[in-house]
Amino acid sequence: MEIKFYNSLSRKKEVFKSIYPGMVGIYVCGPTVYDYAHIGNLRSYIFSDLLRRVLEFNNYKVTQVMNITDVGHLESDADEGEDKMVESSRRHKKTPWELARYYSDDFMLRLEQLNIKKPGIICRATDHIEDMIAMVEKLMDKGYAYRIEGDGIYFEVEKFADYGKLSGNKLDALKAGARVDVNERKRHPADFALWKDAPPQHIMQWPSPWGPGYPGWHIECSAMAIKYLGEQIDIHTGGVDHVPIHHENEIAQSEAITGKRWVNYWLHGEFLQVDSGKMSKSLENFHTLADLLDKGYDPLAFRYLCLNAHYRSQLNFTFEALDGAQTALQRLRQGWQKLPASKKKPDAKLLQAFHSAINDDLNIPLAISYLWEAVRDGKPGSKELAARFDQVLGLKLDYVEKSKELPEDLQQLLKQREQARAEKDWALSDKLRDQLAARGVIVRDTKDGTTWEYNPPSDK
Ligand code: AMP
Ligand code: ZN
Repeated sequence: MEIKFYNSLSRKKEVFKSIYPGMVGIYVCGPTVYDYAHIGNLRSYIFSDLLRRVLEFNNYKVTQVMNITDVGHLESDADEGEDKMVESSRRHKKTPWELARYYSDDFMLRLEQLNIKKPGIICRATDHIEDMIAMVEKLMDKGYAYRIEGDGIYFEVEKFADYGKLSGNKLDALKAGARVDVNERKRHPADFALWKDAPPQHIMQWPSPWGPGYPGWHIECSAMAIKYLGEQIDIHTGGVDHVPIHHENEIAQSEAITGKRWVNYWLHGEFLQVDSGKMSKSLENFHTLADLLDKGYDPLAFRYLCLNAHYRSQLNFTFEALDGAQTALQRLRQGWQKLPASKKKPDAKLLQAFHSAINDDLNIPLAISYLWEAVRDGKPGSKELAARFDQVLGLKLDYVEKSKELPEDLQQLLKQREQARAEKDWALSDKLRDQLAARGVIVRDTKDGTTWEYNPPSDK
């Protein structure tokens, strides 16, 4: 059955065709690990997980690559301000590497709690500096980049004829609309940093042909995507906020180097809003998944909530809506668990309807209505059919709530970790933290002491 996706590049739904038969490469813009991911960020990874699962349901072998941005993402997407990692590291009095490890571990845990399948390749920007330098060198050689002394290397957007093709932005309009305080040494206000010179006291820096410095945020994604998926890739995803700058710039750098169309399908997830307003890390009005768990919610209630809105629609988060999602999910699971097992062939019409829905640009809200139908009609074969649907939806229909009381052996591990911290044995305390995490106990060290949350892993 054909699959259609809305391609942000053509602004229409297109029939999906992979470059290699039966295989799909997807690049997912990953998190900047300077803080906890908020539930808006997590909505965008639920979307990329659904995309992957839909392709797998259609028997594609999917290679999903996700980056971890642990350097180079400045406070403003337009290359201004300080590196978010460096700024956060000063605030927390930790090295950027310690921070990156802490927040990326937390991020991975949240993916797991949301039943988001782990991308096959997860790559850190700081492990790929050489690839980025090589790309910047190529852009310099080809005349697409120029140096501003004492500042860095910039991509010259006017040299790239297709600049703006994703967002529809025109260079003249960008120039007219540029802020007055834009870096005046740039040849065009939309020119963006590929490499920044680092002053001696800058914590994150690497040697380069242009002296010590660090990469721009956009070049990270181009370098890693090309390294792992090749010069032409099937699908690239991210949130809608990335269309006008980050993804436009990724296209410019990559296509300037290869001279070929880089990404065939660009898919963008809409924003989650909170109480009808914008949520962002900088506004500090964001909820994390840990906040929801602290309030006693099942993480998959949040997944269920997200699944009920199409990925290209904004979703307004309220606790009333989350309550509704939690109740609905519980009913769905209870209904499914009561169904009799059967070897009977499932209802072909319902399977077909579900399949058409998910293949129509991920119409998951419609697909969920078919899941309810399967659970409600309860005919022989429905249980198995619903379980098949759940391979795409990932709601863990077989989940049975377990006691959240901390078993004795885990209590001991927590005590040992407290002891290790008291003795400042950080290596041991980190090791124990990992052991606890593997068993579902998430430990957080705050200035008021250590707190933990326990989510017994399911048996699946
Ligand atoms: P960041 O860690 O800021 O680079 O963001 C990670 C991902 O979350 C990106 O794909 C963003 O587009 C996406 N994102 C950021 N804020 C929201 C939001 N409120 N709702 C949905 N996605 C978001
Ligand atoms: Zn990216």
